[in-house]
Amino acid sequence: MRRGIALGVLLALGGLVAVKAQPPAADAPKVIEVEKVKDNLFVLRGGGGNTAVFLTATGVVVVDAKNPGWGKPILDKIKELTPKPITMLINTHTHGDHVSGNVEFPATIDFVAQENTKANMEKMPIFKEHNNVGMTKRTFKDKLTIGKGADQIDLYYFGPGHTNGDALVVFPALRTMHAGDLFQGKALPLVDADNGGSVLHYPETLNKAYNGIKGVDAIINGHMPAQTTFADLKEFADFNQDFLTWAQAELKAGKTPAQAAPEWKVPAKYAGYSSTVGPLFGGVEGRIKRLADEMKK
Ligand SMILES: [Zn+2]
Repeated sequence: MRRGIALGVLLALGGLVAVKAQPPAADAPKVIEVEKVKDNLFVLRGGGGNTAVFLTATGVVVVDAKNPGWGKPILDKIKELTPKPITMLINTHTHGDHVSGNVEFPATIDFVAQENTKANMEKMPIFKEHNNVGMTKRTFKDKLTIGKGADQIDLYYFGPGHTNGDALVVFPALRTMHAGDLFQGKALPLVDADNGGSVLHYPETLNKAYNGIKGVDAIINGHMPAQTTFADLKEFADFNQDFLTWAQAELKAGKTPAQAAPEWKVPAKYAGYSSTVGPLFGGVEGRIKRLADEMKK
């Protein structure tokens, strides 16, 4: 578990660094591991965020497209799984380790994301460099249902968290959801202030998701090496609420984010949660600072 989370954090780090135009080692072999979740649902791991591959009657729907250079390896891997054509790519949010592979997908397919994510993606150089191939074509605000019956997909947005455009992608017939990085794994989540992420609203957004989505048992997380459960989503919401309550008390007591940060620990009741917090977005201190900024508004 702990090793998996560390790996997830590293992958997230790799993707975000890539956004800042530091090219990854182009000649490193791009290895994708396939996990069959259901007969018509797969998770492709490696090269950034977890990618979901959903086989419908008419074609293949993909969720997230990994780091730069990983679009082609995803397409090659899907060819091994099915002869069906790719019809749609859904992005859970704007980060480079989830959307950069978009530019290698066929330009004619449908590209879908939450409306704020489209606005965030429009700021990314990679799409300008590729004549806008892979840019979102279809957006939604709060909810969008695509297809029906065995092929139905429900997209939800419940408010700011990891970014201001985190989509939850539900496959109702399979009782499974791709949660992207809103629930990346069992650790303190990253909050991207530049893309509208919120420490203050994170627990509320998770609770809205937990209460607003029905009929999901399994969750594909943004970077976890194995699925989590819907009950884990509630635990993650509580974990974030406890962090928020603690951080607000520290600020109220007059501590600066730098003074408070070293005192934070994973509360003992959260078994299996990683205490490792990477430096991305300022580490624990950066999260408390983001909260202080939000509380001033
Ligand atoms: Zn992310």
